[in-house]
Amino acid sequence: MTDRKTELAGNLANVEERIAAACAAAGRGRAEVTLIVVTKTYPASDVRILSELGVRHVAENRDQDAAPKAAACADLPLTWHFVGQLQTNKVRSVVGYADVVQSIDRARLVTALSKEAVRAEREVGCLVQVALDADASGRGERGGVAPGGIEELADLVAGSPGLRLDGLMTVAPLTGEYAGREQAAFERLMDLSTDLRRAHPAATMVSAGMSADLEQAVAAGATHVRVGTAVLGVRPRLG
Ligand SMILES: *Cc1c(COP(=O)(O)O)cnc(C)c1O
Repeated sequence: MTDRKTELAGNLANVEERIAAACAAAGRGRAEVTLIVVTKTYPASDVRILSELGVRHVAENRDQDAAPKAAACADLPLTWHFVGQLQTNKVRSVVGYADVVQSIDRARLVTALSKEAVRAEREVGCLVQVALDADASGRGERGGVAPGGIEELADLVAGSPGLRLDGLMTVAPLTGEYAGREQAAFERLMDLSTDLRRAHPAATMVSAGMSADLEQAVAAGATHVRVGTAVLGVRPRLG
């Protein structure tokens, strides 16, 4: 194995151990939680190594980086998640490779995604990104819509051709009542997911938890964790 492959295999084993332990502690089966490796800022060669090591889900947050990387890895059996704030002028490009967009936070984005998905004859999975630090109907500091805005966006996604409503995503807030209370934030997301599934039973995905708080997310009931640094190392710049 190359040095990098050995390093990534070790990190991956460590993260896998953490997820397995968190599942066991929560009385959940390991198969209930899917690992998504966030490869942002890291090269396509790392994505290829991760694929060889058995990773099946990867995530990116900037189209400029993600588009060429996804093209270089088009031969790999990977599901690509887009997790960054998404401008409508990038939607056509993102629809070219993303299987799931986790950062749905406004109606205009849904309309644009639907149009491009239909045009590309693709089905794009969509998660409504919830901002637990947003006031009543505003948007959060790190993207996302306030809980009061979920239903309208979810209904819009569900009624849009080319799109599939998969569930909810959040990033633990740095400000507001949930700052420093990751597990409470993720439990709130689970409650919102329960509400959502009354109207949309197939929207079962709950994407929460990153390198620092994946245990809290698994304990709360997350179905997907998004892990970057713990697998790939500390990013050279904020990404
Ligand atoms: C970067 C990023 C992650 C991964 O964060 P780490 O702390 O590196 O694990 C997860 N989710 C989103 C939305 C991100 O932008």
